[in-house]
Amino acid sequence: MGEERQLGLFGDLSQQGSWDDDVITVVREHEREHVGRSVVPPAPWDRVPDRKDLADLAAVAQAVERCRACRLGETRTRSVPGEGNPDADLMFIGEGPGVEEDLQGRPFVGAAGRLLDKIIAAMGMSRDQVFIGNIVKCRPPYNRVPESAEIEACLPFLARQIRLIRPRIIVLLGATALRALVDPGASITRARGQWIRVANTMIMPTFHPAALLRDPAKKRPLWEDMQRVLEQLKDPLRRGEE
Ligand code: SF4
Repeated sequence: MGEERQLGLFGDLSQQGSWDDDVITVVREHEREHVGRSVVPPAPWDRVPDRKDLADLAAVAQAVERCRACRLGETRTRSVPGEGNPDADLMFIGEGPGVEEDLQGRPFVGAAGRLLDKIIAAMGMSRDQVFIGNIVKCRPPYNRVPESAEIEACLPFLARQIRLIRPRIIVLLGATALRALVDPGASITRARGQWIRVANTMIMPTFHPAALLRDPAKKRPLWEDMQRVLEQLKDPLRRGEE
């Protein structure tokens, strides 16, 4: 399938975003620290307490359902642990559940979720081939950004999911996911499109699909980021590097 046709699958590209290869991001800063070294930086989730008591994804989901570790547990309708292939090579991580997700207990099922489905389809995959989750598992009221204490309380669940799934690639959707997992001071506009290599995983930050609904000019750069993900997934030499 041609690139333009794939792009067309998730909407009008008449407004295209710019691509700035010269941007120096937190990612490049990170890479510079490791130039000439064989040491790959540890995974960010290694900083998070390991819930070894949660033996599999079902146990994580059950623990999330019972959880009241932060105040989001008091206002949610349903928790949203995340879903998908337990052996997924590719994992998408967003910010947190919205109103539709809160009602259904499933991630990315609202308007942004339908756009993510189209993006995944344009990549030649289906939702059940990947794993989709969020930084926090319960909806912040009025869709506000989750607070740092809420993120801190919830991250052990996501960290456990990552350790269990062991994805080759993690796509961080939006600033909250980038800041929670990589760098609290990072800018998604500057960091997107550039690989962050940690331990056995490659991380690709990109825009949240909700941002594309507000600003269609972001479709082009997001699709360029997904092209990089596809190249990484398909390249047997790169597979061998990991
Ligand atoms: Fe527990 Fe996370 Fe829900 Fe807070 S957001 S109650 S930590 S599952």
